[in-house]
Amino acid sequence: MDNLRDPLSVTLVTESRLTSTDFNDLGFGNHFSDHMFSMEFENGAWRNPSIIPYGPIAMEPGTGALHYSQSVFEGLKAFRGSDDQIRVFRPDMNARRMARSCERLCIPVIDPALFIEAVRAIVRTDQDWIPGKRGQALYVRPIVFGVEPHLEVRPASRYRFLIMTSPVRTYYGDEITPVALHVQQHYTRASPGGVGEAKTGGNYAASLLPGERARDQGFNQALWLDGIEHKYVEEVGQMNIFFRFGDTVVTPALRGTILPGVTRDSVITLLRDQGFAVEERRLAVDEVLEGSRSGTLREVFGAGTAAVIAPVGRICLGGTTYEINNNEPGELTGALYNKITSIQYGETNDPHGWNMLVPAGKAAAAAE
Ligand SMILES: *Cc1c(COP(=O)(O)O)cnc(C)c1O
Repeated sequence: MDNLRDPLSVTLVTESRLTSTDFNDLGFGNHFSDHMFSMEFENGAWRNPSIIPYGPIAMEPGTGALHYSQSVFEGLKAFRGSDDQIRVFRPDMNARRMARSCERLCIPVIDPALFIEAVRAIVRTDQDWIPGKRGQALYVRPIVFGVEPHLEVRPASRYRFLIMTSPVRTYYGDEITPVALHVQQHYTRASPGGVGEAKTGGNYAASLLPGERARDQGFNQALWLDGIEHKYVEEVGQMNIFFRFGDTVVTPALRGTILPGVTRDSVITLLRDQGFAVEERRLAVDEVLEGSRSGTLREVFGAGTAAVIAPVGRICLGGTTYEINNNEPGELTGALYNKITSIQYGETNDPHGWNMLVPAGKAAAAAE
């Protein structure tokens, strides 16, 4: 492990939980694999990189992150191709994003090269947990948080970085069923100058209540509008969002309140490769609804690691529900889903070099 200053220590479980895990009923994030990567920040440096059994960690009740939410996380996936090759999708993007999130939350940055090595080490160690079926994957969840017990409001002096993994199906199930979105006109997810573009738990805590309201009314998720005028579309909260008007695809521009998704970036790149015009700009929700009324709005889809691409079939604002493409997955939506997943499972070439290959063979894990 060239990028880790200290050598990687490896403690493997004595008994794997693999055989007692039902891979036909995975859900999303319900099962955790045998091991986790762990590292600690103390006296100015990240130390003790190790692979240890997944399990409870000791924390004092005064742990800063529990009180003041000084924590950030990431989410990426490892895939097992039909060629049995293991691929991790664009870990460099997650590494850089985590560094930016850490800066915003005053958390000592983890060098992107070290982050990538750590992902490689844990995926390699728990490679038997990567499901073999198409549509399934090993979700990789890095998290970093302040562990120093203190009640004063200030950055912690000590931190913990963990990477756990979880075998998953795609977020919305095996079939591509369109999701229904409820335009949130009262609550907001993020505001300019806040932490909306950082992947931090507080954004999710703020989204729970409106999300529950949306579900109570029969919708899958809230569609967030900007925090100032409640007029412009932002994102879905776990996904970025795209609108196809005619043959132009529009997605809200990154202005500090939207999470810069890896899937978002992949979609934009692939669309431009195929000659589609992609506009990253402000998009008023009125323009979306007008497009729905006039028929120029052909497809809407969300993009995020968990769901990959999720078609949006209905958007509800106030009391009115607007149906998109007869509540069926659109043609471009399906093509993008197929294109991205084909790259992830190694079924097509990878023109942009997005996949990181993880060597099989886990002897002494990735300690080499
Ligand atoms: C993680 C996340 C996304 C999707 O980002 P990906 O990198 O594509 O998974 C979108 N919005 C929010 C708020 C997120 O936390």
